Amino acid sequence: MRYVSTRANSPSVTASRAIELGLAPDGGLYIPEHWPPPLVDLARSPDLGEYPDFANRVLQPFFSEDPLQLDLAKICARAFSFPLPLKMLDPSTALLELFHGPTSAFKDFGARFLALCTQAIPSIATSPGSRTPLVLVATSGDTGGAVAAAFRECTTILVVVLYPDQRISQRQEKQLTTWGPQVLAIAVQGSFDDCQRLVKEAMMSEAWKNKFNLLSANSINLARLLPQMTYFAYASTQYFQLRNRRAGFIVPSGNLGNAVAALWAQRLGFPIAHVVLAHNANRPVVDYFASGKWQPHASLSTLANAMDVGNPSNFERLSALGQFAHIRTLASAQTIDDQTICKTIVRVKHDFGEVICPHTAAAFAARQNQSTGDWIIVATAHPSKFEQTVEKLIGEQIAIPAGLQAILNQSSASIQISPTLIELQAAVAKGSGTFL
Ligand SMILES: *Cc1c(COP(=O)(O)O)cnc(C)c1O
Repeated sequence: MRYVSTRANSPSVTASRAIELGLAPDGGLYIPEHWPPPLVDLARSPDLGEYPDFANRVLQPFFSEDPLQLDLAKICARAFSFPLPLKMLDPSTALLELFHGPTSAFKDFGARFLALCTQAIPSIATSPGSRTPLVLVATSGDTGGAVAAAFRECTTILVVVLYPDQRISQRQEKQLTTWGPQVLAIAVQGSFDDCQRLVKEAMMSEAWKNKFNLLSANSINLARLLPQMTYFAYASTQYFQLRNRRAGFIVPSGNLGNAVAALWAQRLGFPIAHVVLAHNANRPVVDYFASGKWQPHASLSTLANAMDVGNPSNFERLSALGQFAHIRTLASAQTIDDQTICKTIVRVKHDFGEVICPHTAAAFAARQNQSTGDWIIVATAHPSKFEQTVEKLIGEQIAIPAGLQAILNQSSASIQISPTLIELQAAVAKGSGTFL
């Protein structure tokens, strides 16, 4: 399998090379050059088996003729070592909980897979005397923590996490700032879009490229997207076996990584009827589905902060799925405001006894707007990461998962900068002093 750029102006590359490069040289995102034939046997097999084995079988064709193929089974077994429950809520609604990993958000799937792939690519991890491998990542809340936790054992790799100062929850911030000098946390005085822009500028800068082997850990990286495809494949097949009907997915969406992964799983022939993208008040994707026009804008702060994205980078992968008219048959989008998010958190606790995070609440609200069909609501984070919003609404304390508690007990440190490449450069030089 080879991968091409969404901008069609770069040579095709192997999976390993796409993972190492992050962004294609023409500024586009890597997508499969062709789609493997539908995985019909897997989608119809009566016994799904354990999730890591299933994921390995889905991913095999995407790593054909790549050195990582040999390690793939082991990587899946190590990366996906936590539960993936699918709960029936009513006869036509299920809840897929993706937050049982170490940092309590779905990003653990992609981040852990990426870290293990990165370590297994010889040109990155084990080339002594060459440029320091540096993972540069912008986070709207949850990516940074998942990436930091996933890379903490990769001691030859430096990790720099950029997050919008004051715009993430205290517990999210804690997950970014407790890892010592190998993982630098940088609070950018600006929005997530500023963080994402700085990462792109650094990636394009000759000075940075000379000093570091720059690696991207955002959902532009192929190794984040591919593993996310596998849980949509697994859950849709599981639902089909249970109900004998194809369900659609309702995906809390921001940068569009998870939604594109759902559409890739559908493309592979898994029983996915439709994909609804549940956005917060940031509405460029919603407007696109209404008008066919793409007009990104500055991001707005909402209660579902991991979805505060005004210019989602995976839009290029969404639009690469075909003509606008075709994309509209596969997916649709909704915008859910903060007030509805709050009401939904209260309603879902009352109706189903489930305590949900603000992102998941956007998906529940979008479910209520569907009059027909079977739906799997995707729960993207554990509510205890957003206790300041959720506990007030439900009037009780939320128990903290053990992994999150361990992180909260550690001491933390971060560096504040204004959103310029020069300040970022100074912060990295200073902050990583003990490492370089
Ligand atoms: C990142 C994140 C999202 C948005 O996912 P995208 O892949 O960026 O669209 C939604 N919910 C939570 C909790 C997240 O951390």
